[in-house]
Amino acid sequence: MYESERKVLIDKIRAKGITNENVLAAMADIERHLFVPDAIASNAYKDVALPIGFNQTISQPYTVAFMTEALKVKEGNKILEIGTGSGYQAAILEKMGARVFTIERQPDIFLRTQKLFDKLNIRVVCRLGDGTIGWNDYAPFDGIIVTAGSPTIPENLKKQLNIGGRLVIPVGDRHSQVLKILVKTSEDTFREENVPHFAFVPLIGREGWKER
Ligand code: SAM
Repeated sequence: MYESERKVLIDKIRAKGITNENVLAAMADIERHLFVPDAIASNAYKDVALPIGFNQTISQPYTVAFMTEALKVKEGNKILEIGTGSGYQAAILEKMGARVFTIERQPDIFLRTQKLFDKLNIRVVCRLGDGTIGWNDYAPFDGIIVTAGSPTIPENLKKQLNIGGRLVIPVGDRHSQVLKILVKTSEDTFREENVPHFAFVPLIGREGWKER
């Protein structure tokens, strides 16, 4: 279903500057309409964020593409995602051959998305909890992607990255953020790049925002 709509979306994302063919191929394959509520499935191939209930969103496809490209995912990489949400981003990473670990703090979203992964046979390891403290049992990771806006970069996430690994995280205030792309260059040094103008729902947790 929605094959032609999906193709138009991928062309749009390519035209906006995404060049990684593995990212584009994964996004051409994964059916985004399965990750949004049925009532808005026909909007799934617009390049916009959409509501998924519980005050949360599925990120804009271009943002998913941009962050995934920034992670430089290779087959077999171990990737940690903070903010499972609809599961769409995790599905893209899995499609690209990554071993995906994903954490969600909202219990209803966690349960619903875990069921969806089972139904679609998407093999990712899910956890309910505060992702700002990372997932030490499976660390170190080749990449960490945070899909909610954070006030700062959680120290645990920096620690749980492999040398050479990349951390992609939106940092700013509750309404707008800069996307930070960190590359771990040694045990305690990072190279950092900043890309402005992103807007995510808040990352809530011990090293994130307080719940309101
Ligand atoms: N990656 C998601 C997708 O593909 O649909 C987008 C997720 S949405 C923009 C952000 C998610 O982060 C929400 O589901 C929210 O509940 C979750 N979240 C916020 N703070 C969190 C935390 N400390 N740990 C884990 N998840 C968190």
